[in-house]
Amino acid sequence: MRAIGRTTVERLRQPEYTGENRCPPCTVVNLLLAALGSVAIGSLAPVAGVAFALVAVAAIYLRGYLVPGTPELTKRHLPDRVLRWFGKDPHVGTSVDLDGDNAVSSTDLDGDNAVSPSHLDVESRLLSIGAVEPAGEDLRAAPSFEREWRRAAEEVLDAPERRAGDVLGLSEPGIEDRGGVCVVADGGIEAARWPSREALVADLAAVPLLRERLSDWESLDRATQGRLLAGLRVFLTFCPTCGGVPAFREDTVESCCRSVDVVTYDCEDCGARLLELQR
Ligand SMILES: [Zn+2]
Repeated sequence: MRAIGRTTVERLRQPEYTGENRCPPCTVVNLLLAALGSVAIGSLAPVAGVAFALVAVAAIYLRGYLVPGTPELTKRHLPDRVLRWFGKDPHVGTSVDLDGDNAVSSTDLDGDNAVSPSHLDVESRLLSIGAVEPAGEDLRAAPSFEREWRRAAEEVLDAPERRAGDVLGLSEPGIEDRGGVCVVADGGIEAARWPSREALVADLAAVPLLRERLSDWESLDRATQGRLLAGLRVFLTFCPTCGGVPAFREDTVESCCRSVDVVTYDCEDCGARLLELQR
């Protein structure tokens, strides 16, 4: 009996919307709809109202939602501010979260939300240390900096786990691909994430170069360091693993309750995502 119960539960369960993948905004919207439904039915027939509430809560628990299509609904109708309140940063998977305290949020390069620490001007800092230089109306990686960056990236590739452990201060560092995102874990527990292994290698290579050139690097908080690293990654001209050339592209990223227009910076050869910025 119990075995049958368990298999039924497993058949109903939708892992893409539950567990780690459960979407708080979708869950709350569905619980509200379930409550409204239960009250409406209960006002006509109390027992039916209670039964509906039980079925509804079970459905939300197992399936992640009650009303099919609510992930789409919240995608269209929940404002960014509400999603952010749920920890759903509309900047889907942008780049580094060196803090690792919020697995969903990410570095925010355009500084339009509250994450920005003291309105850090990433480009002017990178210019001031000669990491980037003017090229016409644009900026580019300074050739001497780029040479050192390439060399450093090759060194990182020899022992990426150890380097990640050193930079993030982890005792049991591991690098894993989790659902298309590169996660640096400490004893299996996520410590930080990057859009790809290539992006991680680029940042691990850049850390000693920035530390050398920025006298206050060590005193910067992790979020600021992350923004400088992601800001620098915009100027990466080589793919750290395959040596291909990255290029910018416009794209739309779908998550369960968001549809966001982004600019991506991907390796043209191996497709590795180096950066993703909301438009
Ligand atoms: Zn590549």
